[in-house]
Amino acid sequence: MKEIILVKYGEIILKGGNRPKFEKLLMDNIRNAVRNIDNIKMNIAQATIYITPQNDDKIDLICERLSLVFGIVSVTKAGVCEKDMEAIRTGALEYCKNALMPGKKFKVEAKRADKHFPLTSVEISMDVGGYLDDKIEGLVCDVHNPEVTVKIEIRDYAAYIYCEQNKLSGQGGMPIGTGSKATLLLSGGIDSPVAGHMIAKRGVEIDAVNFFSFPYTSERAKEKVIDLASILAKYTSKINLYIVPFTEIQLAIRDNCPEEHMTLIMRRFMMKISERIAKQNKAMALITGESVGQVASQTLAALNVTNSVVSIPVLRPLIGMDKKEIVERSREIDTFNTSILPYEDCCTVFTPKHPTTNPKLVNIEKSEAKLDVEELIEKALAGIETITVYPKM
Ligand code: ATP
Ligand code: MG
Repeated sequence: MKEIILVKYGEIILKGGNRPKFEKLLMDNIRNAVRNIDNIKMNIAQATIYITPQNDDKIDLICERLSLVFGIVSVTKAGVCEKDMEAIRTGALEYCKNALMPGKKFKVEAKRADKHFPLTSVEISMDVGGYLDDKIEGLVCDVHNPEVTVKIEIRDYAAYIYCEQNKLSGQGGMPIGTGSKATLLLSGGIDSPVAGHMIAKRGVEIDAVNFFSFPYTSERAKEKVIDLASILAKYTSKINLYIVPFTEIQLAIRDNCPEEHMTLIMRRFMMKISERIAKQNKAMALITGESVGQVASQTLAALNVTNSVVSIPVLRPLIGMDKKEIVERSREIDTFNTSILPYEDCCTVFTPKHPTTNPKLVNIEKSEAKLDVEELIEKALAGIETITVYPKM
């Protein structure tokens, strides 16, 4: 039986006049996501994208890859047959027989998008259900608690058959490219990759910036950040990563500013430099992994001090989440195991013993005034290493 992939998408259906544009973007992103696997054929109708692989043995890999593309709600393989009841009955038996073992509770659920088809949805379900019940010894029809649901969709050009249980959930969200661009401050920790994923999921293209303190942090720490970016790139297709040399700034702060202000001044530099990078790349916002109260630099007073150095919005999608919830997310998006590798981060190297938790902006500004901020920023910007990171598969 000929097999294709049905892709269902969600929110963009609600986008009125923008819908065709968003659908085209989603299709471009789909093609891009599988570019190394197969030269797929694609068409779109009735809020479903139909994908025909050129290479049948690549179909599972394609489905898996598509389950990571933002905007997609579900992905399923489906058997295709003629819109004729005899073909549908035998097709359902052939396509779902591996799932329909004796003793299994099952139901058939038909949907008739083509209203010219002579049977109603209920009639189709009953007809095919009866047929399968006859043909497979020991099946149990149970419409309330089925273990296997055979789905039949009668559409314009054909009928499609699949098992609901084999459907993969997609990421949901909006296709990348529908929501401008933002710059993610990507550390090697657990939080920032999750924050990046959450904003990218809303259709925003992301670049990433990492502050790197060679030789206080090792090459391995840098590789860890590149690895995290390449996991994120599985969802976004690629990420430009800007590695900013940060040691000189940290040493200058250490040597000239009060120890308890060190973290906040460091964070203010990070925000300022990231904003410059964002503007150079036409990104409209910054993204951080901050969450209220998680550490001293994330009290509201501290956030106010770091926020006040930038003029573009700072998106903090984790702001109200508990660490436990963030960890769950990071497992789901597959960054957790990389995030917990032990290589030190630039902040852990220069952490004061008693950071201030209730800072006053004027005091921080006074401490910061001991530095030639502009010169330090210019120097850091001049030393940026840019890496284009592709998906880690
Ligand atoms: P994470 O788990 O993301 O490292 P964290 O809980 O360790 O966060 P902080 O170290 O205070 O918190 O950092 C807060 C945010 O600042 C991070 O989520 C990240 O967005 C940004 N950040 C921190 N360190 C760096 C770095 N070395 N490079 C780029 N961004 C950073
Ligand atoms: Mg960190």
